[in-house]
Amino acid sequence: MPRTAVALDLLLLPTWLVPVEPAGVVLKDHGLGVRDGCIVFIGPRAEALQCNAAEVRELPGMLLSPGLINAHGHAAMTLFRGLADDLPLMTWLEQHIWPAEGKWVDEAFVRDGTDLAIAEQIKGGITCFSDMYFYPKVASERVHNSGIRAQIALPILDFPIPGAANADEAIRQGIELFGDLKHHPRIKVAFGPHAPYTVGDDNLEKIRVIAEELDAAIHMHVHETAFEVQQALDNTAERPLARLGRLGLLGPRFQAVHMTQVSDEDLGLLVESNCSVIHCPESNLKLASGFCPVERLWQAGVNVAIGTDGAASNNDLDLLSETRTAALLAKAVAGSATALDAHRALRMATLNGARALGLEATVGSLEVGKAADLVAFDLSGLAQQPIYDPVSQLIYATGRDCAKYLWVAGKPLLEDGRLTRLDESQLIATAQAWGRRIGGHDE
Ligand SMILES: [Zn+2]
Repeated sequence: MPRTAVALDLLLLPTWLVPVEPAGVVLKDHGLGVRDGCIVFIGPRAEALQCNAAEVRELPGMLLSPGLINAHGHAAMTLFRGLADDLPLMTWLEQHIWPAEGKWVDEAFVRDGTDLAIAEQIKGGITCFSDMYFYPKVASERVHNSGIRAQIALPILDFPIPGAANADEAIRQGIELFGDLKHHPRIKVAFGPHAPYTVGDDNLEKIRVIAEELDAAIHMHVHETAFEVQQALDNTAERPLARLGRLGLLGPRFQAVHMTQVSDEDLGLLVESNCSVIHCPESNLKLASGFCPVERLWQAGVNVAIGTDGAASNNDLDLLSETRTAALLAKAVAGSATALDAHRALRMATLNGARALGLEATVGSLEVGKAADLVAFDLSGLAQQPIYDPVSQLIYATGRDCAKYLWVAGKPLLEDGRLTRLDESQLIATAQAWGRRIGGHDE
């Protein structure tokens, strides 16, 4: 009996296909088929060509992988890129960033800054990002319009922030946005208490109760610096992570961003509560915050994802170079060249990110049934030759400009390196106008 040909909207034929799951696999001369936004076929090229595809795309010299997942950032802060550099965290925050935010951040700032961040991320191979910034409703509208996928974490602090007079108002807005977007196919709403030193026990209790009720994630900066931990110990004789554990916040839905300070007791808590850690190596390096012990966490079974942090402290949203930095740094910190090899580094930037954001059933690997969130990197250039292991080349020898094609839920957002939905020259002009205002050159 003749087999009925598989019907596809799109068939991709890259030179290499890296599914990430199963781990360490590189499929040569395979095809990937997409229908209704999902991956419905992965198989050898000859078999793929038997499919009945509406569109066939040859991707010679390209590596097709799951789209990169930037698990921590503050998107609209792209407009503060380079505003205050080379300063320690608290000086940078208290004397530069917080005053600038007080003066400039409004809905228009968040709209334009988020668009700029989304465009930069799509051009760099990122299909999903986590955002924690003011006016989250505006950010979610930009995500909706642009076609990218995101987790929007509602910022909550004990003091007033742009868009919310107090923590109760921020929480209320969060509940409302959560309800509005509950069924959105590409947006997940989470709660983002800023850090242990900016949110007191009362508000953390409220967030715990609501997150539990809604089954929502909690995204929080934790143990970013040794100073943060020491200050808490001096004041309360309790480490911040232990305090979060005592308050019942830690669990599989908890995303601990940074974790540069990890004691044996902290590690035990992370493992036992099954939290994810989100590593932001370049931000930690630039602010001299410390080093997250990635290999130690990984070997203990903690899910470690990766994020760029905001462009004001990085200063780019380049997750591919961030992953390279993470791979190099992990070796230095562990004192072992075998720490975080290239394949595991790619896993950290894809499937581990999906797991941290609670999206592992939908994205993060190339598997039949998952959403077609894909990126094709061109490895045909001079700087990638010769190619023994394309994943090694991707992590250690490839820049984000090699991202040529990108799809989210099967929709093309990048074609031959060009944005399909956003106007790049318009975005540049808008960012430059903000730069002139913020830099004081407009008067
Ligand atoms: Zn951050």
